[in-house]
Amino acid sequence: MPVQSLSYSHAPSYEIQLDLKQQQWLAQNADVVLDAVVDAIVTIDDRGTIRSINKATLKTFGYLEEELVGEPVIKLMPQPYKAEHQGYVDQYQASRVPKIIGIGRELSAVKKDGTVFPIYLAVSEIHSAEGVYFVGIIRDLSEQKAAEDALLEQREQAAQAGRVSTMGEMTASIAHEINQPLTAISMYAQAVLRLMNKPNVDHAKVLEALEKLNDQSIRAGAVIERIQRFMSHADGEKEFVDLNELVGDITHLAAGDARLHGIDLVLDLDQSIKNVFCDPIQIQQVVLNLVRNAIDAMYEIGCKNGRVVKLTTQNVSNDVALEVVDCGSGIKDEVAKTLFTPFNSTKRNGMGMGLAICKNIVDEHGGTLQFENNDAHGATFKLSLPGSDE
Ligand code: ADP
Repeated sequence: MPVQSLSYSHAPSYEIQLDLKQQQWLAQNADVVLDAVVDAIVTIDDRGTIRSINKATLKTFGYLEEELVGEPVIKLMPQPYKAEHQGYVDQYQASRVPKIIGIGRELSAVKKDGTVFPIYLAVSEIHSAEGVYFVGIIRDLSEQKAAEDALLEQREQAAQAGRVSTMGEMTASIAHEINQPLTAISMYAQAVLRLMNKPNVDHAKVLEALEKLNDQSIRAGAVIERIQRFMSHADGEKEFVDLNELVGDITHLAAGDARLHGIDLVLDLDQSIKNVFCDPIQIQQVVLNLVRNAIDAMYEIGCKNGRVVKLTTQNVSNDVALEVVDCGSGIKDEVAKTLFTPFNSTKRNGMGMGLAICKNIVDEHGGTLQFENNDAHGATFKLSLPGSDE
């Protein structure tokens, strides 16, 4: 096929004009050049028949040359692209409105052995003396995707490990949170037994005790459910979330811990805040971490500056901001420099992973996590996430 000009007929639109010498060189060396390319290059005619391929195509798809040239290009496509392909070609021929020509996009392709794999496909249109051809340049994204998945998995494992260690540290308070309703349940059950053993059973009292018993079992169940949800592996699911509800939920988890340390959690939540699009479990992890650090910072100095950790939410332009204000020791200069670096802790049993994981999670959400020392005492951690009108 004599190459005259390669014209990308649509945006990004440019035309490569070759002079006669260049055309001749290209005509003689085109195969060598194409075979040197690591991406698969497949040329089809306007009926979708494969007219030529380069060497990389054979390696990428696992076919022999004779199994592809002259065959329909849909042989390289999995469903649903296979079924839709001719429709796209016809539509483009009729309307000249490109869906992919000159644009490129991520799709899937299928190998001879049936393996479906991710690709980046860029298609351009060639006008030659013989007619119109389409050239597809196919980049195998399998390795890139695998690396991305591995990174995501690593992040999730770090987040998961962070949650397990936070919960480990909070074991005493969690045991306390669950023990309270369990003790109450046992008390009401004994009361019911006593009432039922009396000669004249007071049904109203029995009913009342049973209702209270039921309330307490629901309370214990709710504590366990919150913990289960928080510890769950179900990361990565983003949804539109009301940050106030999320803060309310997490302060329930932290309330026992705070009480145990003689500290109050005070909420000042702006009811008009926008929703945020986030993975609620991960953002809960961030908030819990900030609250626990605040409690630790105050407890370490015997709460000499006060006993309140304050959490506030508000809209700040298009973002939703959450502040955790404590009255602990504040962040010392030497700690501040490496605050978000893993394994930096001033605590006797601290892992120094908490804030590093938090920063990672917040970055991944397109938000910011900052801190400053307060004028009087303690520090303020500021979490900001992009707000959404949904
Ligand atoms: P860890 O809690 O295991 O030490 P973090 O990464 O959560 O790990 O915190 C790292 C360090 O940052 C803490 O050891 C502490 O010195 C400091 N820090 C974090 N939050 C506060 C705070 N609110 N006030 C003072 N220091 C803090």
